[in-house]
Amino acid sequence: MRVAIAGGGLAGLSCAKYLVDLGHQPIVLERSDVLGGLVAAWQDEDGDWLETGLHAFFGAYRNMNQLMAELNISDRLQWKQHALVFNQPEKPGTLSRFDVPDIPAPFNVIVSILRNNDMLTWEQKIRFAIGLLPAIVRGQKYVEAMDKYSLLDWLRLQGVDEKVNTDIFIAASKALTFINPDEVSATVPLTALNRFLQERYGSKIAFLDGAPPERLCQPIVEYVVRHGGEVHTAAPLRQIAVRGDGTVDRFVVGGLHGQSGYDVTADAYVSAMSVDAFKHLMPEPWREVPLFQKLQGLEGVPVINVQVWFDAKLPTIDQLLFSRSDILSVYADMSVTTRDYEDADRSMLELVIAPAEQWIGRPDGEIIEATLSELTKLFPEHLPDKVKVRKAKVLKTPRSVYRATPGRQACRPSQATPIPNFFLSGSYTMQEFLGSMEGAVLSGKLTAQAIAKSRSLPHTQVAMGAAAT
Ligand SMILES: Cc1cc2nc3c(=O)[nH]c(=O)nc-3n(C[C@H](O)[C@H](O)[C@H](O)COP(=O)(O)OP(=O)(O)OC[C@H]3O[C@@H](n4cnc5c(N)ncnc54)[C@H](O)[C@@H]3O)c2cc1C
Repeated sequence: MRVAIAGGGLAGLSCAKYLVDLGHQPIVLERSDVLGGLVAAWQDEDGDWLETGLHAFFGAYRNMNQLMAELNISDRLQWKQHALVFNQPEKPGTLSRFDVPDIPAPFNVIVSILRNNDMLTWEQKIRFAIGLLPAIVRGQKYVEAMDKYSLLDWLRLQGVDEKVNTDIFIAASKALTFINPDEVSATVPLTALNRFLQERYGSKIAFLDGAPPERLCQPIVEYVVRHGGEVHTAAPLRQIAVRGDGTVDRFVVGGLHGQSGYDVTADAYVSAMSVDAFKHLMPEPWREVPLFQKLQGLEGVPVINVQVWFDAKLPTIDQLLFSRSDILSVYADMSVTTRDYEDADRSMLELVIAPAEQWIGRPDGEIIEATLSELTKLFPEHLPDKVKVRKAKVLKTPRSVYRATPGRQACRPSQATPIPNFFLSGSYTMQEFLGSMEGAVLSGKLTAQAIAKSRSLPHTQVAMGAAAT
């Protein structure tokens, strides 16, 4: 079967990979010149990579790890020491570590919490553990049911001390979803926590060894093309043309720089665009269909990535750091964490600003100034006097992953839709992970499976190769 896929982010590329494994022919159409969507990156005039976002991989990312193993690129993940590390704003320049020992889950995570005495008292730890019990005992079903509460409300209902929220969950919530615990659905951090408590290496963090378009997307493209698929950049979907019965007739694509658009016809069609982009292009007759109607409840959340190049080394570590700053979320010294960005003499910090509502409309200069002012609190002995800024860049994403507020789970659509030859893919679609790289890869795989299973499509080829599981 020929399958046209609009969107060359991780979901679209993963969908194409698993479609060729099933013996089909995907045609990926990406709007931008660069593949990757929210993991896209570009080289600037100096040859430095500018990334859409700082990306951390986790041991719990089963599908991402499997995809990389199937592509023979698992060695591109640089695994860090098993620990979660937080800045301590109350003691500027110091870090607090949750070191996870190499013993079976959930004892490894529990021991790491019990051993950390910087951030929580024993009483707070015990109340926190008791509060978590229903999530551990009753599992994902309980976690899903908590989508009616914000994380902050849920913590209060469980009698968890307010300090657990301010010290740990603000940082975790900002890192996972780019919003604060009073806004985020309890389901999201509880899902992540459950993974970490169930899998021995679930909370272990890795960094890709370079820029995602080169080091992650390109091997997927090569695989897809080698197996008969096509991947086109600068190929924006302009219109989903439908027939009288509501099924897709063709994708109208292109039309850049005054050139006219062209048609792409296929046996099945996939939107692997962000939910915001899809809503914009949704054909009028579909707007009454309940599955598409509920997409009105989903929209991308703003986030900002800042990269700062310094003229000397800062005292950083080879890890993702939770800043616990009002403005900043996580950050890392990429000159240490990431092989292709290595620099023995100068640091390059990559930082995420979240929540970003207040910042997304402001000029880059103001954002850089605010970032540096926060950094002087994290590195008081080095900034601003001893170590100087060489260059700073800001990359704004006004609509990134879906805003994971309470009630959103019910809005997330399945990959198969009521339109027999049309499917959805993307980390916002229903899958057990959040708006994450893992969620994107899993959604792509689920979309490929839904297409392969569909009875209303012309199955012209017998499934072959490594079947998607
Ligand atoms: C700052 C930041 C930090 C992040 N950190 C992490 C992290 O540490 N760990 C993690 O797991 N996840 C992280 N994420 C989230 C992760 O990047 C996303 O969940 C994932 O990449 C989404 O992939 P996707 O394919 O579903 O969507 P997208 O990446 O949004 O892909 C959609 C694609 O569709 C294309 N498109 C849109 N309109 C059209 C059109 N008309 N025609 C053709 N193509 C179109 C877009 O250009 C894009 O390439 C982060 C995201 C950001 C922004």
